[in-house]
Amino acid sequence: MNLINIYKIGLIICIMLSLTQMSCARKIANVYPLDKSYYNDAKLKADLKELSRINPESFKLHTIGTTIAGENPIYALQIQTDIDRTPVLIIGQHHGDEVMGLEIAMAFAKYLSENPGDAKVRDLLDAYAFWIIPTLNPDGWKIVTSGKYEWKRKNNTDTNNNRKLDIKTDGVDLNRNYPTFWSLDKSLPEMSPFYKGIAPASEAETRAVMEIAELVSFKYVFSYHTSASGTYSEKIYLPWQDMKDKKTKDDFTAMRDIAKTYASAVPKDYAPGTYAVHPGNTSRIGNARNYFYYEWGTYSYDIEVCGANKLGVGTVHPAGTKRHEIVQKNLQALVRTLLIFK
Ligand SMILES: [Zn+2]
Repeated sequence: MNLINIYKIGLIICIMLSLTQMSCARKIANVYPLDKSYYNDAKLKADLKELSRINPESFKLHTIGTTIAGENPIYALQIQTDIDRTPVLIIGQHHGDEVMGLEIAMAFAKYLSENPGDAKVRDLLDAYAFWIIPTLNPDGWKIVTSGKYEWKRKNNTDTNNNRKLDIKTDGVDLNRNYPTFWSLDKSLPEMSPFYKGIAPASEAETRAVMEIAELVSFKYVFSYHTSASGTYSEKIYLPWQDMKDKKTKDDFTAMRDIAKTYASAVPKDYAPGTYAVHPGNTSRIGNARNYFYYEWGTYSYDIEVCGANKLGVGTVHPAGTKRHEIVQKNLQALVRTLLIFK
């Protein structure tokens, strides 16, 4: 074997080793199947029913829609129905694999239910009427939480029309399916993880949110996400900003202050410092934050929770202890922000 061949074999071994290490790092960071402390379908249904059972006056459980492909109900928990209160919407997830937002949304509902004597809870319930949608994508979320496929992002719509579920490629990205700016988004092939759907609001899940938005004038919408690549981690994103419009400018100053309050209250998972508000403009596409702001004037936020670890791996399915820590610090930041800006 000559020197060049030895070099080539060495190089191949190095590449294989580093690929193995990368996949090991991802496995160590992300626990899959998910740790037992995460919600699954049975636990979610049981907890939602229990919350409405023990608070019959103030917690009402609604089914706001049904997914077409999986026939799964889309739940919304309405907390405080008084018309004098300021309506706030919390969406735990649009993307099935981004499970942590559902954990935060449910922790918030349980916090309000389990601490009636707490002054902060009383202040929140005096000021606000909450709508909590733990998951807008029960099809995708059930696939992830049942251990079938870790990265099921989209819903289960049969986008290639072959009458079966292609778990890795079928589906629509629900956070690109809202009608506002939908036509400005690029048209990607249906197998893309970012496929925006065949038409604006083509999906039952998107229409379920829009029907609630038509009934309730939300002041704030907090929508949770996570970034498996780590690229968008631990940042808050505002709607696309029309820089030429004076009214928009004033709104964005106010919207940014609220986002900064939340962000500065959450220490990063694996690095010094806190969450930040994304400094630049954002995409002009059919996502929830653009829909809510441009259709209804709602101050709307995408909060990307879960950081990248020291190896740069987006740790979005962490082990139980870390899951608990991320939920608690986001819960506290949400409570603090709502109390300051009520
Ligand atoms: Zn997302």
